[in-house]
Amino acid sequence: MTTNAQKHEESGWHFDNSYARLPEKLFTLQEPAKARSPKLVLFNAELAAGLGLNPEKLQSPEGAEIFAGNRLPVGALPLAQAYAGHQFAYFTMLGDGRAVLLGEQMTPKGERFDVQLKGGGRTPYSRGGDGRAALGPMLREYIMSEAMHALGIPTTRSLAVAATGEPVFRESELQGAVLTRVAASHIRVGTFQFAANADEGQELLRALTSYTLERHYPEAASGENDALALLRSVICSQAALLAKWQLAGFIHGVMNTDNMALSGETIDYGPCAFMDAYDPATVFSSIDRQGRYAYGNQPQIAAWNLARLAEALLPLLHEDEDAAVKLAEDELAAFAELYYRHWLAGMRAKLGLFGEQSEDEALVTELLQLMQEHKADYTNTFLRLMGEAVELGGFDLFGSEAFAAWLVKRQARLEKQQEDKEASLQLMKSSNPALIPRNHRVEEALRAAEEDDDYSVLHKLLLALEQPYAHSPEQAQFAELPPKADRPYRTYCGT
Ligand code: AMP
Ligand code: MG
Repeated sequence: MTTNAQKHEESGWHFDNSYARLPEKLFTLQEPAKARSPKLVLFNAELAAGLGLNPEKLQSPEGAEIFAGNRLPVGALPLAQAYAGHQFAYFTMLGDGRAVLLGEQMTPKGERFDVQLKGGGRTPYSRGGDGRAALGPMLREYIMSEAMHALGIPTTRSLAVAATGEPVFRESELQGAVLTRVAASHIRVGTFQFAANADEGQELLRALTSYTLERHYPEAASGENDALALLRSVICSQAALLAKWQLAGFIHGVMNTDNMALSGETIDYGPCAFMDAYDPATVFSSIDRQGRYAYGNQPQIAAWNLARLAEALLPLLHEDEDAAVKLAEDELAAFAELYYRHWLAGMRAKLGLFGEQSEDEALVTELLQLMQEHKADYTNTFLRLMGEAVELGGFDLFGSEAFAAWLVKRQARLEKQQEDKEASLQLMKSSNPALIPRNHRVEEALRAAEEDDDYSVLHKLLLALEQPYAHSPEQAQFAELPPKADRPYRTYCGT
């Protein structure tokens, strides 16, 4: 006879719940709510295998029960995390209002990942909310996060979406669903803001700081000044992350401090979208009326968020406040330069340029300016430079005199490098995605799933997005621009 525990072990769950060992002010033990009739609508077998889970065992009614919150995997210790955050620059106390951390899965390689149910029911931090999520936005997070991962951009991932069989009420009645999110951790800038504002102040902050440093940047932990080491590490990883966002044309849409992870992963896919025509002022989110989180503002906003992290860490940076401020400012000052170096290196690769030449920066800036003037599609412009027959929309960039002049300069730059044309093309291939999750394609997939319970369109899209650098003929259809009627595109928070 096999016991329940054995059955779960066959599923491969192996939890070690270190967050629950932190001071209890930082979380509330909280079981997920049960769903009426769970149905597993998406399951990420590849991710499951990497986590040491057994895909066959979990792609089952038992898996549906687990990913809807009805049954706890062995070793889970569900909790909701407390955090605060600046939302559109206004400070608020928040916390997991509709997410429950099941625990930390230890992989066969010894890595640690949070497994969280998003949409898993009400918690003490829910305020007025229902703790639930709608199917559409959870499917959307699944698509976007997996696409980001395939693009090589650090991100939380999506293990499963389970429909609950219950309605959720937003502007209209929608189908409820739970997303199982996998993350290096869910520790946010806002988690530190919460700790810094709590009565226990220093004690909480100290525990959280050492914990986070040890969990995400153990190589930086010298024991001397944990807060400084953490701040520096997070600045480095965020500079690298932001460069990747900008290079890919990704717009997060809601870069509140509670949506910035200390691990350096992209987190919280709400109103995010990829830019079509190049324009730094691009905003998709319907609630971002001022354009605070526009594409071109993202690096500065990241710096602003990091300043909030530094502020929270001040009491630990140095016992003398002025000295602490000075230390924080010195660290923060490095962000812009770090970001810019990553970005320029990435742009060189996108243009097939090896080495570094003094004219590179101007070459890149000029191309971007031309793209903007001609309203050319950002992703496809690079594909056209590689000789791929894709449309650019807007005005005829490649037919313009200004662009011809730019091409001459680029040719001169290419001639300065030893690498041949083929090497240059290979570099471009591996740096320019053949496809991104274009808004109209994502919408089309969501529509079929939500309205007709037809997941074939979504699966086809997911499959194509898995290998963005393959440049295979089957991917060509996904490089098509959205119909004019779909522009400008708007995204909604979907909470
Ligand atoms: P987000 O916009 O997803 O980053 O969420 C901001 C805050 O609102 C977080 O504290 C969430 O947990 C909370 N929240 C969002 N949607 C809901 C909901 N339906 N019920 C309860 N809390 C929610
Ligand atoms: Mg959030």
